[in-house]
Amino acid sequence: MYQRVKGTYDVTPTEGRAWRELENQLHQIMSRYHIDYVRTPIFEYKDVFHRQDEHSDMVTKETYNFKDRSDRELTLRPEGTAGVIRSIVENKLYVPGHTLKVYYLGANYRYERPQKGRYREFYQVGVEVIGDPTPIIDAEVITLAYELIKQLRIQGAVVKINHLGSSITRKQYQSALIHYLTPLKDQLSSESQARLSLNPLRILDSKSKTDQAILNDAPKLNAFLTDEDRHYMQSVLSILDQSNIPYEINDQLVRGLDYYSQVVFEIQSNLEGFGAQNALGGGGRYDHLVKELGGHDVSGIGFAFGMERLLIAQSLSHSEQHISHSLDAFIITLGKESTIHAYLLMDRMRRQGLNVSMDYQVKSMKSQLKQALDFRSKFAILLGSDEISNQEVTVKNLQTEQQITMKETELFTYLSSQLGVLS
Ligand code: AMP
Repeated sequence: MYQRVKGTYDVTPTEGRAWRELENQLHQIMSRYHIDYVRTPIFEYKDVFHRQDEHSDMVTKETYNFKDRSDRELTLRPEGTAGVIRSIVENKLYVPGHTLKVYYLGANYRYERPQKGRYREFYQVGVEVIGDPTPIIDAEVITLAYELIKQLRIQGAVVKINHLGSSITRKQYQSALIHYLTPLKDQLSSESQARLSLNPLRILDSKSKTDQAILNDAPKLNAFLTDEDRHYMQSVLSILDQSNIPYEINDQLVRGLDYYSQVVFEIQSNLEGFGAQNALGGGGRYDHLVKELGGHDVSGIGFAFGMERLLIAQSLSHSEQHISHSLDAFIITLGKESTIHAYLLMDRMRRQGLNVSMDYQVKSMKSQLKQALDFRSKFAILLGSDEISNQEVTVKNLQTEQQITMKETELFTYLSSQLGVLS
């Protein structure tokens, strides 16, 4: 038997319903915030991700790189932002003085060690906002991320915020951290030792207890922030307070990618059973990425949520998930001779815009009714030989169990009025 690739998963029909529902909800929320949908290729030229200033593990160790048949060096996207910014620059979507807000949904690929909530192919929904330097945008984006969780009825989510300062502040802090940690290098976990030269800020969110003990006495990023940085952060927090968005300040929070600066945030789940991978999503400001990818010298802000983790959190929240009726009607035939007649009726109903299904193989009425209920159909349409000879149908409302017989020609008007009432 063939097997799926390690770190990937299949979406079965039942899971497919939850995925579709999630995607529909996400599109609705984005419309409410007036954000436009974009889609970029799953692979890009390698340089889009492997930039000079990007030393994150994700880019250096986890990307799927390959050459195509013409020897082009390509990379499967490990995250959404770089490709979206490349597309904004290439298509000249950003007009100076105007704010551009876009969102995307799509697959990403990272060669990580698979575990619950961590896959090698996974989906993200993300937002990018380009060209607005005001703290209101930071607050709006964090509010959107929080609202998204609320709308999806996910419980136990906590917003954590930190301020990394400008890239100059970060560089100064980075030097101080390296200066402090270098003499203690031998005591650090092997992962942190490797990060010391390449990506020292990531040591701050090490899960190792020894590393954390060493970090207790390390210089604090906070002390390096300029008055301007502090003022900016205060403005963001004050707007969040006025919008009643709960958050925690966490000065250990650094995001995985190197391009972040200024305000960064993460939404974590404290639901029991979530496992070690408890970050639902996160994001922050990036000051230089647009320019690095050949665009204007303009700052951006964005976030991404892992969609598998949103689904896990939804199921753990026990919020009874609103899965809409998938069928308006299921046609039940009573006898082989009525099958084609029923098929043609179904075909007309579908062309009139109703969601209808039936089973062409002769089954008992009981088993067809069971199918109608399993498919959560709102109505069953019964077609027996009497109905056919009188050009009638019997319509059974599967919620109230009431049934009435009517002329076939009246069916569409009847169902439309009933469905209007039900939906
Ligand atoms: P990042 O792009 O690393 O900031 O991740 C943003 C979000 O994407 C995380 O909070 C996770 O919810 C999700 N995510 C990141 N990596 C994976 C992965 N390998 N598998 C599943 N979800 C992931």
